[in-house]
Amino acid sequence: MIWKKIKKVKKINYKKSFVYDVTTSTNTFIVNGLVSHNCTYHRTDSVNLSELALKMAEKFILENFGKNYYEKRVYKTKSKVAQEAHEAIRPTDVEKTPEILSEKLNGQQLKLYDLIWRRFLACQMAKAIFDKTEVEISAKNYGFLAAGQILKFDGFLKVYPTKFEEEELPELEKGEILEVVKILPLQHFTQPPSRYTEATLIKELEKYGIGRPSTYAPILTTIQERNYVKKDEKKKFYPTPLGFAVNDLLVKHFPEIVDINFTAKMEDNLDKIANGEKNWIETLREFYLPFKANLDKKYKEIKGAGILEKTDKKCPKCGAQLLVRVSKYGRFLACSNYPKCKFTFDLENSTGILCPECKKGEIMKRKSKKGKIFWGCSNYPKCEFVLWAKPTGEKCQ
Ligand SMILES: [Zn+2]
Ligand SMILES: [Zn+2]
Repeated sequence: MIWKKIKKVKKINYKKSFVYDVTTSTNTFIVNGLVSHNCTYHRTDSVNLSELALKMAEKFILENFGKNYYEKRVYKTKSKVAQEAHEAIRPTDVEKTPEILSEKLNGQQLKLYDLIWRRFLACQMAKAIFDKTEVEISAKNYGFLAAGQILKFDGFLKVYPTKFEEEELPELEKGEILEVVKILPLQHFTQPPSRYTEATLIKELEKYGIGRPSTYAPILTTIQERNYVKKDEKKKFYPTPLGFAVNDLLVKHFPEIVDINFTAKMEDNLDKIANGEKNWIETLREFYLPFKANLDKKYKEIKGAGILEKTDKKCPKCGAQLLVRVSKYGRFLACSNYPKCKFTFDLENSTGILCPECKKGEIMKRKSKKGKIFWGCSNYPKCEFVLWAKPTGEKCQ
């Protein structure tokens, strides 16, 4: 509903330069050049700040922003096995502002340093204060609520601008009669949970205690290199057919290994071993002996692994039935007579277009040694038909 006297004023204080798109796979690289000079040790999830660091932040805030902006806070690491040996990642010298370092660091490094520098200061700064107004409007049997907020004091937002909305309500008096301008019927649907990005996936891993700061990047790299997931244009992960097949197989045959609690407990045990509280040989034996027994059993049991579906097609080599299977490289046709017959046909790169030259092979998407994409006959090397542009399946005029 839009009420005549209530106009929406939206002011989004959000600078694009504060969108950090530093992905974890490049993090290690960026960090290595940074860490030895300008930041403390980075492979840590500790939130602990030393007394020295707290004093340094206090001095900087008092000198640059004034007393009202300072608020001391001490954070404690929540995790059971606190890695308090390390400090939280912070600038070694807060006087080195991102501006001062902008000449020395490259673009990505500077973005990351800027983020660390701002978050470090912001955590020792006062809260931002908003003035909030709520107006209740009654219309016979219906009640409406209008809410507005205005920033009164920016506090930590001074160094760490985040997205917020200001909505100004007009001057209203109690009991005032408002005029209906328009009624907009809107229907809202519950949104399905959105797909993970690198950042949200790490958050989820953190939540369940899976992985450690030093293993987040390798985990994200591995699932992509093995072709279990791909990224869409919004950099969100979606599972591949191989990803689905591997997941189904693991859940069915190794439920205890893929159980979240199992992995979290394992990480816990590894921490305890690192802290000298547990014996590594015993811990390993507890895990490995039953695992090995199950693995040996499954090797014999799981024969049809990777089979997605059966087809009516016959193998051109031996005449046996063809199966759709899945590998690291995607879907392919394989002979059911394997390993006696080794016939395979790549489905991931097939176009379904018959080769116009030999009329036997199919046009396949391929990559040259130099990495250039081209389309060639599946009958190669017998047929050497090649196209450098994507075939349409139509005959050229
Ligand atoms: Zn065959
Ligand atoms: Zn051909």
